[in-house]
Amino acid sequence: MPARRPAKNACVLPPLGMDASSLCSDTRHYLFHTLGAEEETGSKKDLYTALSMSLRDRLVERWKKTHKKVMEEKGKRTFYLSLEFLLGRTMGNALLNLGLEEAAGAALEQEHRQLTDIIETEPDAGLGNGGLGRLAACFLDSCASLGLPVTGYGIRYSYGMFRQEIRAGEQVEEPDHWLKNGYPWELKRPERVRHIHFFGRSDVYKDAQGKLHHRWVDTHDVLAVPYDIPIPGYRNEVVNTLRLWRAASTDIFDLGEFNAGAYPEAVAAKNNAEHISMVLYPNDSSENGKELRLRQQYFLASASLQDVMADWVAVHGENFTHFAEHHCFQLNDTHPSCAVPELMRLLMDEHGLDWDSAWKITSHTMAYTNHTLLPEALERWPVRLFRQLLPRLLEIIFEINGRFLQEVARRAPGDNALLQRLSIIEENGEQMVRMAHLAVVGSFSVNGVAALHTELLCDELFADFHKLWPQKFNNKTNGVTPRRWLQWANPALRELLTEQIGPDWKNDLDHLKALAPFAEDATFRKRWDAVRQINKARLARLVLEQTGVHFIPGAMLDTQVKRIHEYKRQLLNALHVIHLYDRIKRGEGSEVTPRNVLFAGKAAPGYFMAKRIIKLINNIANVVNHDADTAGRLRVCFLPDYRVSLMEQICAATDLSEQISTAGKEASGTGNMKFMMNGALTIGTLDGANIEIRDAVGPEHFFLFGLNAQEVSQLRGNYHPEVYLQADHDLQRVMDLLHSGYFNAFEPGIFDPIMHTLNNPHDPWMVLADFTSYKLKQQEAAALWRDQTEWQRLSILNSAASGVFSSDRTIREYNADIWHLKPLVMTP
Ligand SMILES: *Cc1c(COP(=O)(O)O)cnc(C)c1O
Repeated sequence: MPARRPAKNACVLPPLGMDASSLCSDTRHYLFHTLGAEEETGSKKDLYTALSMSLRDRLVERWKKTHKKVMEEKGKRTFYLSLEFLLGRTMGNALLNLGLEEAAGAALEQEHRQLTDIIETEPDAGLGNGGLGRLAACFLDSCASLGLPVTGYGIRYSYGMFRQEIRAGEQVEEPDHWLKNGYPWELKRPERVRHIHFFGRSDVYKDAQGKLHHRWVDTHDVLAVPYDIPIPGYRNEVVNTLRLWRAASTDIFDLGEFNAGAYPEAVAAKNNAEHISMVLYPNDSSENGKELRLRQQYFLASASLQDVMADWVAVHGENFTHFAEHHCFQLNDTHPSCAVPELMRLLMDEHGLDWDSAWKITSHTMAYTNHTLLPEALERWPVRLFRQLLPRLLEIIFEINGRFLQEVARRAPGDNALLQRLSIIEENGEQMVRMAHLAVVGSFSVNGVAALHTELLCDELFADFHKLWPQKFNNKTNGVTPRRWLQWANPALRELLTEQIGPDWKNDLDHLKALAPFAEDATFRKRWDAVRQINKARLARLVLEQTGVHFIPGAMLDTQVKRIHEYKRQLLNALHVIHLYDRIKRGEGSEVTPRNVLFAGKAAPGYFMAKRIIKLINNIANVVNHDADTAGRLRVCFLPDYRVSLMEQICAATDLSEQISTAGKEASGTGNMKFMMNGALTIGTLDGANIEIRDAVGPEHFFLFGLNAQEVSQLRGNYHPEVYLQADHDLQRVMDLLHSGYFNAFEPGIFDPIMHTLNNPHDPWMVLADFTSYKLKQQEAAALWRDQTEWQRLSILNSAASGVFSSDRTIREYNADIWHLKPLVMTP
């Protein structure tokens, strides 16, 4: 029996104990009774599972209370629809938010185990690619911590983001079977299963009153089975829900489709249904247009909307008059934007509403967040595919488009070019559904994720829409949760902060401002540095263990970790590393500030250039690290399998954060914010949230370089890489080294494609254009590093100014401008 405070009536469950001994006895109960562990001390894995179950009990307790409260209040709720939730590990977050860290440590001591060892046995839940998926996870944490009734909806992929191995310098993808030991944080909810339609055709029929209706018939159905993960708020007794859908086959055997005697084939065909939730597509910032991906998107949208509607109908029957006042659906990029026509379908075909009523509800409940301006990432699906897979949805999309274009024609008579530009259907060549247009037309709010990004949305990508509906557009600069990215990732800093400025920053990150005066305090700077040394030593051990690279003690840790993509310009950083190496080789070693340069990140498996960039970085590392001349000056490391739990260690240890994308291409970035919070200085372009980071900390405390977005777009068509080569002798030498095969002695020609893009006047990322200003800014950073007093001072000021990048601030803005939810107040 789980340990509880004594009760008079044995059938009433009193609250679960929140002390070490309750946690210890519950954990033992699960270990020996539920898991059947044999020995007095269970294995690490068993202990992890048993402790998770004990914590989950405590979460479930609060979960039920929260749910009850939400139902009683009958207020408005938001549903965050996302194909990705990059959660990382859950145990540490649960301990932190429940305030059970110390109790769990003490409980495990009695099992002769270290809490950190147990925590590290948990695999990351890698149900996302990068920034977009991690944002969804940070948002859920902030919503719960602010007491907002927000539910996440996603897909329970059997295989998350692939595990990256590096063999002979190249990325090798291994499947991530993260569920193989079970996932103790989820609860299956089979009673809330939903039927999802595919294929078939749209049919028209007359009801008893002679009214015409549509229905989707002859469908192949798939079941959506929900699994709930508790999302605890920070010490506020609130626990929200992340509901993830798994696809399963219906048990209806359509034997008629198979030849007599093909029973085994009929059963085997059921497997197909399960494929929908099998694997996360590993593409970041690019679409791949596979049919299975569209099935995933519709599967999520339909299951989630049906789920919400079922709760409404259970209380209000078929009366949807007040539905829109009570619901908001936030679409995380266009991935779930099938929700627009699907809500129309459910309201009309399943609940009998007419078009106008259904449209009023739909267009007042949907809100769309755009995450990228890159054309290769804008989703477009062939009309042909839609017609086959989702025929009724296509019909509705055509009707939405027809009515929308009529409105445009009324407002701008005769402007056919405008109609073509705005249409949801692209007509040049094969007809395509433009998902971004569908999302904009169907939503009452459209937001970008940083000030510059929103500006570019309004002026460029969605300029025509912005003219039509300026009031729809708004900015919500991203943020990250300070629970995971400061408190949890950096316990040493957490203690120091609280000692110095008190505990208020834990509930309101703006209180970090109080740190700023202590930047001038030598004693505090010493303690600040001591914390950073602890984190750097921890990361250096990990790097050594994972890669065999010995980081130089006391050297600057210069880090670029993020998805590998040409627009993020890992290549620019790699060229700079070659330049530092070249300086050492030409005898300027004593002038080169000691650096450890850390790279990590995954490339999409089909992205040739990104994979070749990984190979280049590894080859450079191999040459640099094995050259005796670089001793004590330069180390380069590519750390494999970048993921949330790695970033927790990396961001706490980094001195210099590399945010060097081509201006205008990075929508926001959130890695930049994690680094800043933990006291890194940023070297970066005027891109995404870098601009706001620089504004917050002050331009004199930020290493700015490179072209701005306007200069990049003006240079397009007139870009001549050779001009930059001729103007910078150092760059010339770097390119000559590359060209000579210095980094690919036994692999002739492998870097030719890289040199070709660098020298190409059509290089969209304009790497060479920014090299010289990057190099000079790196020299400034290096000079500052030699003045440790000054560096620590700026490090403190960066952290002190990072409060605005808490996702709590972001979510407050979503709530004030878009959702309008009333916070829940729970009593313990
Ligand atoms: C924060 C984070 C990202 C986003 O990083 P950017 O530098 O903003 O691209 C991607 N992946 C993981 C694992 C992260 O923690």
